[in-house]
Amino acid sequence: MTQEYDVIVVGAGHAGCEAAAAAANLGSSVLLITMNMNTIAQMSCNPAMGGVAKGQIVREVDALGGQSGIITDKTMIQFRMLNRSKGPAMWSPRAQSDRMRFAEEWRVTLEGIRNVDFWQEAVTGLLVEDGTCVGVRTQLGIEFRSKTVVLTNGTFLNGLIHIGEKNFGGGRAAERKSTGITEQLRELGFETGRMKTGTPPRVDGRTLDYSKMEEQPGDDNPSKFSYLDTPQLTKQRPCYITYTNEKVHDILRTGFEKSPMFQGRIKGLGPRYCPSVEDKINRFADKDRHQIFVEPEGWSTVEVYVNGFSSSLPEDVQYEALRQIAGFENAKMFRPGYAIEYDFFPPTQLNLTLETKPVRNLYFAGQINGTTGYEEAACQGLMAGINAHQRVRDLEPFILRRSEAYIGVLIDDLVNKGTDEPYRMFTSRAEHRILLRQDNADLRLTPLAHKLGLASDERMARVEQKRQQTADVLDYLSKKPVEPGEINGLLEELGSAPIHEKTRVVNLLRRPQLDLPDLQRALPELHEYLSQYGAEVLEQASIHVKYETYIEKEHQQAERMGQLEDLRIVGKLDYQAMPALSHEAREKLLKVQPETIGQASRISGISPADISVLMVYLGR
Ligand code: FAD
Repeated sequence: MTQEYDVIVVGAGHAGCEAAAAAANLGSSVLLITMNMNTIAQMSCNPAMGGVAKGQIVREVDALGGQSGIITDKTMIQFRMLNRSKGPAMWSPRAQSDRMRFAEEWRVTLEGIRNVDFWQEAVTGLLVEDGTCVGVRTQLGIEFRSKTVVLTNGTFLNGLIHIGEKNFGGGRAAERKSTGITEQLRELGFETGRMKTGTPPRVDGRTLDYSKMEEQPGDDNPSKFSYLDTPQLTKQRPCYITYTNEKVHDILRTGFEKSPMFQGRIKGLGPRYCPSVEDKINRFADKDRHQIFVEPEGWSTVEVYVNGFSSSLPEDVQYEALRQIAGFENAKMFRPGYAIEYDFFPPTQLNLTLETKPVRNLYFAGQINGTTGYEEAACQGLMAGINAHQRVRDLEPFILRRSEAYIGVLIDDLVNKGTDEPYRMFTSRAEHRILLRQDNADLRLTPLAHKLGLASDERMARVEQKRQQTADVLDYLSKKPVEPGEINGLLEELGSAPIHEKTRVVNLLRRPQLDLPDLQRALPELHEYLSQYGAEVLEQASIHVKYETYIEKEHQQAERMGQLEDLRIVGKLDYQAMPALSHEAREKLLKVQPETIGQASRISGISPADISVLMVYLGR
């Protein structure tokens, strides 16, 4: 207990687990302190990882040497690639997880890392000396000292749970809230805010009539998250779709006068895109039904998650309304839905490394920064863990650009724009999304992580092989000739114009009606050549051919933006002494203290004219 650690991570949710694993795998000594060791990596809400834009983040975490992708692969019960009918920038992997197995696998993973120590207790305060964090204090009064601290308290800081007119302190259902940290940090000059989120009831799958619902199976050829050799799903559990109806809505309305949200008892702002069922029927009164996804919680449990029915109405109202849904007539409820309010710290108080500006060597990651979602939390944890380690060893900070990763977009948005509602990732937030695809996260990020020492040699070798093989395939496609007689039959079948003279395979693949498997069908030699390569390489080559011009344009755009990122603002500038800046710009620049001109240009309220002033000031 007297050992001084390199990194103390507070909280073992999705952010804390990644932070601890990353720092320890890089070689730091880590102490992971969490309130309850039985809830390590608990999925507080839906048992699923990934989804639109979130799936890309999990792939990025994996490419960087994080664990969430591997653990999801080992514990999923269903996999779907969402948005397959759209362009590859939109393809988004999503897995239904076995909730208990997911948590267990995380614990096994962490216990497998020799330099992670564990301590089960609540942290109630930080040890801060001369503006630098040097450890934490626990409820028992124990002081653990460290060179850096990563706070990942999730929804626990002064958490307040609401169900109808009842409310009580808690960090999550059946777990205590955390007190002391917010209060101390406020005294140290931090700003804090309140947010809220909610979760649906869980029901007994044995009491549902699935014949009244629509089955939603997983993909026929399920893919996975990790670029490593993780297990391939051989069997899957289906989800089901059903709908609310007018009767359900009528019953829910009877609870409105006891709703903590409608009666103003909840003050924090919730996620707009993930509304409660009462919010949906109130806001979209003309809709006579809302979709419900019925999701199993694991391989061997009968518990079922009722996705789309998040509620903080009284539990009896939830129960009565549920039983009016087709297939739920005899449903028994295991746990009611609830809403929770909690403290967060506006993320404009962070540097791009996730270190706080007011206190040196203190890092924040996850829901504490105003985000929502396991994936958003996991990637911040990874980045905070890496940067805490880099600080301990006096190494360069690790920052990802917006053109390099969704993770870069997320952190850049948080630090520069802040957020007043729970922030979740969308593809639309990434201006360079055609570059930030789920299929190429390894090519983008593994070399960076390998240089850090986090991605293994094995990962790096796989990336080099993929890059080389893709180049070989592209070379072959651009040279392989095709005669009209070989291909026109297929072109007619697929409604594509015939060719009249010899061409190259690459020219045919550019046509939207044609994919590689089609061409392989018609051209035996091509088929034989390509059969030596894996699906990932062929997909990569195909995307390159089909989207080459978009990708090229986007690279040029990113390069132009990158020039602004290279213009560093060294030291603290005296923005107040620059009268040519607008009043708002002076205030914002002072607050955010951007590290580059590129970062300054993305702060809301900073105009191109303000950027010109800064450029002149920096002698550019
Ligand atoms: P958490 O997963 O909350 O983990 C925090 C960890 O810190 C826990 O292990 C806790 O024990 C520990 N801890 C806290 N305080 C202390 C302390 N003082 N000392 C020691 N340990 C401490 N996300 C969505 O994307 N969509 C949703 O619809 C959604 N709904 C949600 C509904 C509810 C009711 C809840 C609780 C969460 C919901 N989430 C939702 C959010 C999702 O669960 C979080 O975004 C994600 O879990 C955040 O990860 P985290 O690591 O930041 O924190």
